[in-house]
Amino acid sequence: MDRILRGIMRYRYIDRDVMVSQFKQVKNNPQPKAVFFTCMDSRMIPTRFTETCVGDMFVVRNAGNLIPHSQHFVDEQTSCEPSALELGCIVNDIRHVIVCGHTDCKAMNLLYTLKDKKVASKENRRLSPLKSWLCTHAHSSLDKFLSMNGDFKNPMLFSAETELRKFVAYIDPEDKFAIEDKLSQVNTLQQLQNIASYGFLKRRLESHDLHLHALWFDIYTGDVYYFSRRAKRFVIVDENTFNSLMGEIRRYYS
Ligand SMILES: [Zn+2]
Repeated sequence: MDRILRGIMRYRYIDRDVMVSQFKQVKNNPQPKAVFFTCMDSRMIPTRFTETCVGDMFVVRNAGNLIPHSQHFVDEQTSCEPSALELGCIVNDIRHVIVCGHTDCKAMNLLYTLKDKKVASKENRRLSPLKSWLCTHAHSSLDKFLSMNGDFKNPMLFSAETELRKFVAYIDPEDKFAIEDKLSQVNTLQQLQNIASYGFLKRRLESHDLHLHALWFDIYTGDVYYFSRRAKRFVIVDENTFNSLMGEIRRYYS
């Protein structure tokens, strides 16, 4: 808590006035532009690596950047992620949903071990809310990943906005990342399908009024990747790719 209290004091001296003036600017007409799902990992600070500030995004974080599929939505037993989608996309009319995964994700590293049925046993799941969360909500990612039998040279097929709007993905075609990181990329893309499973988003998704995107953050280099459906892979966002990625986004999603 020392670290936190000292931080609050520094914030009072350095950032508070700027933030209060930003709060005033957006007070009567906040127009957030995205619902941003990412991992709760302490190294992930999405407002820093997107340089967004007050009023720009709704951020939802959990272990493994998961959005439970709507089949798990049972009235009062719902989790926060679908309600965040409704608050963002329906109540606040946000038109872009972003899911952002990352390298060395502890949740994905654990998910990878759950391919061993003994580790994923009922008994273990009862003792570990984290294992239970991953087994329930990330098993589709793990199944999809395992279906490749470790050979990621072949393309994978994912659903996005609608059942018919599928896209092809080559996972880590340069084979730069660890096997768990490949699982993290698969998991990030799988969440787009889970988001689209909610009936209250269906009409907007079908009419191209709501768009789903995937980002991926490399914690070791600080590079951010955008999943380009045109390039069929996560593409690093940098000086060489920026114009092309902007062109793709404007063409398909504006
Ligand atoms: Zn993580």
